[in-house]
Amino acid sequence: MQEKPNVLIIYTGGTIGMIKDPKTDELKAFDFNHLNDYVPELERLNVNLKSISFEKPVDSSEINSTHWQEIARTVFDNYVHFDGFVVLHGSDTMAYTASALSFMLRGLKKPVVLTGSQLPIGTIRTDGKENLISAIEIAVARQNDEAIIQEVAVYFEYSLYRGNRCSKMSANQFEAFKSPNYPELAVAGVDIKYYHDSLLRTIQPLTLHEGMSTEIGLLKIFPGINTDFIPGLFNVKNIKGLIIETYGSGNAQSDDRLQRNLTKYIEEGGVVLNISQCSSGAVNQGKYETSSFFQKIGVISGVDMTTEAAITKMMHLFGLGLSREVVIQQLNENLSGEISL
Ligand code: ASP
Repeated sequence: MQEKPNVLIIYTGGTIGMIKDPKTDELKAFDFNHLNDYVPELERLNVNLKSISFEKPVDSSEINSTHWQEIARTVFDNYVHFDGFVVLHGSDTMAYTASALSFMLRGLKKPVVLTGSQLPIGTIRTDGKENLISAIEIAVARQNDEAIIQEVAVYFEYSLYRGNRCSKMSANQFEAFKSPNYPELAVAGVDIKYYHDSLLRTIQPLTLHEGMSTEIGLLKIFPGINTDFIPGLFNVKNIKGLIIETYGSGNAQSDDRLQRNLTKYIEEGGVVLNISQCSSGAVNQGKYETSSFFQKIGVISGVDMTTEAAITKMMHLFGLGLSREVVIQQLNENLSGEISL
């Protein structure tokens, strides 16, 4: 008889692991050791499940790079003992965590599937059960003697997305995530259909990169912005990398203060990455006069990266302690399937 596959569930917090306190009506985390009480279906899966939980599960708004390090290290340390990993996480910052993990855990040959839910697992209409059960199925899916998914992915409401390509788009729909610039990796219907041409493959060995720098800034451009009021952002001593979220295909107003601040920041050694405020499509610097300036002063095009991927990629590259030149070079490269080049 074939041995059952092994899956490690890493519970970080979020709605999926909460129950309503009948007295106060507040949502609070339940004891994760009792997961089977809430999802008895798990016992019928042909999988050996082991779960570990953050000592203090958190709402995903509280997630920071220390939590990412804990998740990445847990996967890395347990890698040889499990066929796949399911990370239960609040949906609010799930796309940031998935993006961060995709850079911290390079060379994966096994799935790391993040999922969560909009309604707690103990409520009657919960989306959490389906999300959890399908995520486990995906974590053990194999073909030709290898895992089908060999990357960090997000499963939510019948769709599997590349982790560093999706964003949370809805605060109340079950279909909370979208991946406008990259196709789904799989869709769950009667069967789970995998889109093999979209799946990441690498020959690199698994490496763990734990360093994440927090010396990163994000500036969303808007009509009438006065960047003289935010000088701290352009101080390269504290902010090594700055992401600018621009209009359409990477455009911004030809505002004197914005241009002056950016030019000085880059001259002093700052790295600027241009991504679009549009959720679909790509930056194309130089297409319009309103983006040629960026090209001229050495702003890097983030092409079609999500904000979550851009931020965590910068955090990762500066966290590696690389020189400015190498950071720039790697921002222009596809490291974990995050960018279409
Ligand atoms: N606020 C919750 C969180 O992100 C929402 C959710 O779990 O989906 O932790």
